[in-house]
Amino acid sequence: MTGSRTQPGTHVAEHAPCWGELDFAVADDRWKTEKDLVAICAPNLYVCGGCPYRAECIQQVLPAKSNFDGICGGRIWLNGTIIHALPEAQSSELLAPVIRKSCGTAAGSRAHRRAVEQQCPRCELFARFMPDPADEAEQLELPDIS
Ligand code: SF4
Ligand SMILES: [Zn+2]
Repeated sequence: MTGSRTQPGTHVAEHAPCWGELDFAVADDRWKTEKDLVAICAPNLYVCGGCPYRAECIQQVLPAKSNFDGICGGRIWLNGTIIHALPEAQSSELLAPVIRKSCGTAAGSRAHRRAVEQQCPRCELFARFMPDPADEAEQLELPDIS
C-alpha cells in the first residue's frame, strides 16, 4: 500500500527533489514482488542522499504505520519495513521512540525495531548487541552521480 505521499499538497516539501516522481511512492499495480519494487526504486534512491528532508519525510509518511511501499527518507520500504537504506541514512532520522514497559530489555529494543523507530536510551545497549537486519541489508549498486 502506498502512503499519503502520493496525495498532492500533503508532502513535507513540494520542493523536495523527488516531488512528483512516480517511482518513489510506487502504485500497487506497478509491481508484484519485492524484486519488482526494488527494481523500480533502487535507481532513484540516490536522490535521497542529497535531500535535507529525510527525517521530515518519514514523519509525514509514517511508513511503518501506513504499510508504505517505495522510497521514503533515504530508505526503500516494503509493507512498512525497511528493505534497503542509503549508507548515509541515520537512525536519528527515524521516528522518536515510544517508551514502553519493556524498555530496558531486549524485548523493548525489538519493539522499537518492529515499529521502525529510534531506540530509547535504555534500549540502546541491547540494540548494539542485536544487529539490525536493515543495517545488514545488501548494499545496492547505486548510480555514480559524481
Ligand atoms: S528523503 Fe527522499 S523520498 Fe523523502 S523527500 Fe527527500 S528525496 Fe523525497
Ligand atoms: Zn526503549
